[in-house]
Amino acid sequence: ADLFRPERANAQGFDLAHTQTLKHIDQARAPWKDHRWQAAPLLAGDAVPAEPLREINPADPNDSPGTTASASHADVQIALAAAAPWHVPAAQRATILNAAADLYEAEFGQIFAVLAREAGKTLPDCVAELREAVDFLRYYAANIPKRSPAGRFTCISPWNFPLAIFTGQIAAALATGNAVLAKPAEQTPLTAHLAVTLLHRAGVPREALQLLPGAGEIGAALTSDPRVDGVAFTGSTETALKIRAAMAENLTPGAPLIAETGGLNAMIVDSTALTEQVVQAIIESAFQSAGQRCSALRCLYLQEDIATDVLTMLQGAMDTLRLGDPWKIATDCGPVIDDDARANILAHIAIARREGRVLKELQLPAQGTFVAPTLIEVSGISALEREIFGPVLHVARFDAADLDRVIADINATGYGLTFGLQTRLDDRVQQVSEAIRAGNIYVNRNQIGAIVGSQPFGGEALSGTGPKAGGPHYLPRFCAPDRQQAAD
Ligand code: GLU
Repeated sequence: ADLFRPERANAQGFDLAHTQTLKHIDQARAPWKDHRWQAAPLLAGDAVPAEPLREINPADPNDSPGTTASASHADVQIALAAAAPWHVPAAQRATILNAAADLYEAEFGQIFAVLAREAGKTLPDCVAELREAVDFLRYYAANIPKRSPAGRFTCISPWNFPLAIFTGQIAAALATGNAVLAKPAEQTPLTAHLAVTLLHRAGVPREALQLLPGAGEIGAALTSDPRVDGVAFTGSTETALKIRAAMAENLTPGAPLIAETGGLNAMIVDSTALTEQVVQAIIESAFQSAGQRCSALRCLYLQEDIATDVLTMLQGAMDTLRLGDPWKIATDCGPVIDDDARANILAHIAIARREGRVLKELQLPAQGTFVAPTLIEVSGISALEREIFGPVLHVARFDAADLDRVIADINATGYGLTFGLQTRLDDRVQQVSEAIRAGNIYVNRNQIGAIVGSQPFGGEALSGTGPKAGGPHYLPRFCAPDRQQAAD
C-alpha cells in the first residue's frame, strides 16, 4: 500500500482567491439565479397533497427561491409504515454514499444558489457547507462499524447548516444501515429536498430515506412514535429536552438521542497574544455566517493591558466588513435567517443601547432581514442570559489576577461547546484548557469551522449529549446495542 495516500481525503473545496475559480462558480450558479425550487415530502409511498407555501429570500423580500408543501400527520404515518432499514452489505452502502458525495460536488452551482437564496449564505459559507457535507458522506462511508443498525432513525436538523448538518446526520444513520426519517428545519426545506433528491439519485432506496418537511409538530410526531428507534437532533437545548421527555415516554428504553445544542462560547485573550492574529480570529469567530453558528464567539475576554488596543483594531476591522447580498462575491456578512430571528436579536441590542453599552454598530442595508455586526460591552459572560444567535459580540475586560474567576464564570454558564484561547504562554495553554469545560477548544486561531475527521465537533453539558459528529465514536451510537458487549 502507498503509505502516503490517506484512505480518505477531505474535500478540496474552492480557492476563492483565484479569479478563474470565481468565474467558474459564477457560471455554474447563473442558471439558478431565478429558479423556483419545489420542496415536498419524499416518501416511499404517495404523500397527501398539500398547499405549497412561498419561501422568501432573507436578503431580498422580492425574491422567492421556491415553494414548499409541508408533510402532514398522515404523511408521518405513511413514512413510518414504509420505512425499512437499508439491509445491503456495508461496502455497498459506502459506495452509494461516496457516489452521493460526487453528485453533491458535481451539483455545486445549484447547491450554492439554493444556499444563498434560501438561507442567506455568503459564498465562503457555501463553499464550507458543501465541503463539510461531502466530508461527512465520505468519512462515515469509510468508517462503518460491524454492527446492526438501531432500526428507524429520525433526523431533525437546523437551518444554520441546511446542507452540512442535514447531510451529516442522515449519512451517519444511513451508513450504519438505518431507515431515516428526515425532518429539516422549517426555514430551509428547499436545500433539504435537493440533498435528498441527490441521495436518492445516487442509489439510496426510498424506504431507507424519506423526507418530511414541516413545522415542529412533524418533528414531535417523529420523536414520540414507538416505531422510532433513535433520534439525531441539532437545535436548541430547550427542544432537545422536550425530545428527550417524549422519547422516554414513548420509545423503547435506551433508544439513543444524539443531540447537539446551544452554546455560550467565550474566548480569552491575554496580553502576550499577537494582536493582528487575534483581531482576525475574533472577526471570523463572531461575524462569519452572520454569527449564526452554535460554535460562534459570543463573549470575548480581553486582558486589561491590551484591551484598548485590541478594541481599537477590532472596530477598524469591523468597518471593513461588507454587509449585503450573499450572492455577491464581495459580501462578508449576509442576513439572519428570518424576521423573528432579527426581531429577537434587535431586542437584545436595544437594551444594550439604552444602557449605553454599544461600542460599535455598522450600517444596515435598506431591505432584507439583516442585523448589523455589533459590539457590546459587558461585565462578563454571566451578564448574558441567553445565546444571541447573530452577529453580536460581547466584550469584557479582565485583570491577570482574575483569570481563575473568568474561567469559573465561563464554566458556570452550563454550556460547553467551543472555547478560544489566545496566548503565547505554553503553561497557560495547558492550565486553561484543562480548566475549561468545552467540547472544542481552539488555541491561537478562530473557533469555528471544525473539520470532519480531524476536529470531531460536539459539546458538553447543556451543549449536547455527544458523541461528537465527524469523529470515531459517532457511528456506533446509530447502531443497536452491541450484544457481545452487553453480555460481557
Ligand atoms: N460545526 C460548526 C462549526 O464548527 C458549527 C455547527 C453549528 O453551528 O451547529 O462551526
